[in-house]
Amino acid sequence: MDPSIWELETFYRNRDLIIIGAGFTGLWTAISVKEKFPAKSVLVVERSSVPIGASTRNAGFACFGSLTEIIADSQKMGGERTLELVKMRFEGLKKIQDYFTPDEIDFELCGGYEILNNDQFLAHIDDVNFQLKSITGLQKTFILNSKKLEEFGFRNSEYLVENPCEGNLHSGKLLQKLLEKCHGLGVEFLFGTEVSKISEDEDHVLIKTENFEISAENLIIATNAFTKNLVEDLDLFPARGQILLTEPIENLKIKGTFHYDEGFYYFRNLGNRILLGGARNLDFETEETSTLETTDFLQNHLENFLKTVVLPGQKFKVSHRWSGIMAMGAEKSPVVKAISKRQIVAVRLSGMGVALAPKIGEQVAEMIGDHCKNLIS
Ligand SMILES: Cc1cc2nc3c(=O)[nH]c(=O)nc-3n(C[C@H](O)[C@H](O)[C@H](O)COP(=O)(O)OP(=O)(O)OC[C@H]3O[C@@H](n4cnc5c(N)ncnc54)[C@H](O)[C@@H]3O)c2cc1C
Repeated sequence: MDPSIWELETFYRNRDLIIIGAGFTGLWTAISVKEKFPAKSVLVVERSSVPIGASTRNAGFACFGSLTEIIADSQKMGGERTLELVKMRFEGLKKIQDYFTPDEIDFELCGGYEILNNDQFLAHIDDVNFQLKSITGLQKTFILNSKKLEEFGFRNSEYLVENPCEGNLHSGKLLQKLLEKCHGLGVEFLFGTEVSKISEDEDHVLIKTENFEISAENLIIATNAFTKNLVEDLDLFPARGQILLTEPIENLKIKGTFHYDEGFYYFRNLGNRILLGGARNLDFETEETSTLETTDFLQNHLENFLKTVVLPGQKFKVSHRWSGIMAMGAEKSPVVKAISKRQIVAVRLSGMGVALAPKIGEQVAEMIGDHCKNLIS
């Protein structure tokens, strides 16, 4: 189908900036660019009718790293890089709270907890607290508070570490508020539009879709786990995360966000229901996929985890099951870099993208600059 002149001169006209992907990264980037450069025309192109990647299918933790994750990351990528990442997440969460009221996004500073079954990591708690003081402002970001295990009904667990700075939110509402903000700033959108190819010459970068092409001065690729279709040679692979949600549970004692096994399991209350996700580490191979399905193997395992760890002795029924796709790599840090004169990738947000995306948006806006069409000189 050939486009009409009316379409070519409006919806499909050239823009200063095109962003591919309307997840948290794409939307925060659009906001940061428009706030910094109001005159720039910005178009976000999203393949689905609503963004379908990780942003609308996650667990809604407003978190910046549990004690064991921070220790494990420091061992893998060094203390300095780990702290940089924690700082970025902490500031990202602050930014979300600056932009939106708790009611608008169901944000609750409920406190986060990590369940441990041995004391191996507890020896490092003072050290980690010392490192985090400059970020959270607290003498003790992580507090051993095992007496709460009983309060929550976790009778099969040994230790509980509390983090008062952690919260949760409603990811769907956050995404809708970001869209509203974008509309207010004059960002334009094309939903249901998959970009199949990107090309670049001296003067422009061009995106191709099934029915039309649009060119821009600069392009941001914010497609996270789905980036390999558009950009080669990135250290990135898809990692599916599966989730289940129970029906309301009478007299539910659990309130907060909870991490288990270095973050491979996570659960929280959603009102008086339990949302539980994870266990990818039991079947890494199958879960390295961008197919949005759930598997009996992992869902059964999650149910068993609910029975034994989260709700021992309590009756529950599962009402919803879904999955979403994260982007992982050799390191946990995101990839935000220019890949040509006109293109930037902002991807690989792993499992804490709610917090990272607001700061990634700022980084990209800095890189674009006022007139900088040439990102690599
Ligand atoms: C199960 C699960 C639980 C999680 N829990 C949490 C949590 O509790 N807290 C937390 O902080 N993080 C969590 N995360 C991670 C977080 O959701 C992600 O890091 C974050 O949403 C990534 O945002 P994004 O915008 O970069 O990517 P995405 O949200 O994946 O957005 C990419 C967008 O690009 C679009 N797209 C892809 N290809 C094309 C194309 N060719 N053309 C046009 N559009 C395209 C997709 O449709 C998609 O909407 C979780 C993730 C999953 C999967």
